[in-house]
Amino acid sequence: MDQDCPTAEVVAIKGNKILDVGHKQVSGHFKKKGTRLIDCEGRAIVPGFNDAHCHPLSFAASLLCVDCSPGVVENIAGIQYRIRRQAEQTPASRWIRAANYDEEYLAEGRPPNLQEMEEAAPLHPVILIHRSEGHCVLNRLALQEAGITRETPNSPAGTIHKDPETGEPNGVISGRNEQLARALPSLRQKELKRGMELANQRYLSMGITSLQDTTWTNEVHHYQAFRRFMDQGILSTRVSMLAGTETLEEFQNAGLSMGSGDSRLRIGGVKLALDESTGRTRPPQEDINCYALRAHKDGFQIAFHVSDAYALKAALIAIEFVQQRAGRTGHRHRLEHCPVCPPEFLQRMAASQAMVICQPAFLYYGGQKYLQDVSSAQLNWLFPVGSLLRQNIKVVASSDSPMVSCNPLTGIYALVTRHTEAGQDFCARESVSVLEALKMYTLQGAYASFEEEVKGSIRPGKLADLVVLTDNPVQIDPEGIKDIQVALTIIDGKIAWEKEI
Ligand SMILES: [Zn+2]
Repeated sequence: MDQDCPTAEVVAIKGNKILDVGHKQVSGHFKKKGTRLIDCEGRAIVPGFNDAHCHPLSFAASLLCVDCSPGVVENIAGIQYRIRRQAEQTPASRWIRAANYDEEYLAEGRPPNLQEMEEAAPLHPVILIHRSEGHCVLNRLALQEAGITRETPNSPAGTIHKDPETGEPNGVISGRNEQLARALPSLRQKELKRGMELANQRYLSMGITSLQDTTWTNEVHHYQAFRRFMDQGILSTRVSMLAGTETLEEFQNAGLSMGSGDSRLRIGGVKLALDESTGRTRPPQEDINCYALRAHKDGFQIAFHVSDAYALKAALIAIEFVQQRAGRTGHRHRLEHCPVCPPEFLQRMAASQAMVICQPAFLYYGGQKYLQDVSSAQLNWLFPVGSLLRQNIKVVASSDSPMVSCNPLTGIYALVTRHTEAGQDFCARESVSVLEALKMYTLQGAYASFEEEVKGSIRPGKLADLVVLTDNPVQIDPEGIKDIQVALTIIDGKIAWEKEI
């Protein structure tokens, strides 16, 4: 990823920085008493991966839940079995959380109903959360605990689905429900710590040495929790954290501004959610402009949550608005997700100088569904990564974990092959080279958080965050990229994780 030295054979590390990058014949030059030599046996070494859009605390919490992911369960009986097993080990009336189901991957093509949830655990309140976190299914006790009845009205943020005949809640809730949020006991410190330990192991085993927490509800106490996890040695991955949509002032009052912190934990901008996830469907453009201008003037990078063409347009108008009033070169405002990029927007996107933070693994995991459900005209505009690059738009890759797995190699595979999990082609002309894909997970990720001077490539003086891969993605048949594993993860010049052989 270093233009001046694109490939090499030896990396010398001193302390937490890269000392030199060179070739075998000069390696003796660095070898002194006390120098440790790691022979990678010709394997590929790449810069540590940067997951530029993810939700680590949700990921940690999801790892504590009963796992109902596609691949783990195939049908409703599988979900019931796993919940039942958890119930057997849980004192009656304590909440059971299950997560990551996706009805698209269940044989029945639908979530379990109230009766089926009841059969699985009649004595515990149970919540089963969709892997998008956009819906959940409750059992009868959970509905009772939350006080949700046929009389409970829908809030702007969420819908309580009801039986059309009886009018009784059927257990499914879409979006957010305040009553449910209040009834759900928050994770105890000890539990969260355990979840973060598990999350850290996953990140390291996938070579993720940096991540960017783009959660729109981030508060100052989350920042403090990250710092605590790092001080306790529970979290090794570097974190660039965005302030939440409604908490910018709280961060500022705590003395935290753009770039505050250090190379382990820093403030990386502010998230601006523009859609139903905040409960304010389609906020007026003036509100978006006004909010963006304030954040922009205060020096913040803005990460617009762009879920559709409407939001894309609103974000571009807001960027043009703030640039007209308080123009700044190198603002690096971000368009998060941006799954739909109709061609008429491309030039405007390029002119805005905003980056696109995409989630290529969605293509892999969700591609089959898009191919079924989306019109063929629109399919051409979904994740058009190749077209974005041809317009000189900076594209950064990420996972949106826990929505899908955070394995960067799945994302790289999807970017390069444009193949879905079922092996279908998905607009092959939008594919990019392996090196471009690697760059999106390394150097561009660092650029997205204004840290390209200190990480993202293997270059003398940069932080020694490196990953050794079992195969070289540039050399092997692209079909094999998704099966490449991480052999070794180095952060700050220290081995943070090693694959068991
Ligand atoms: Zn997200």
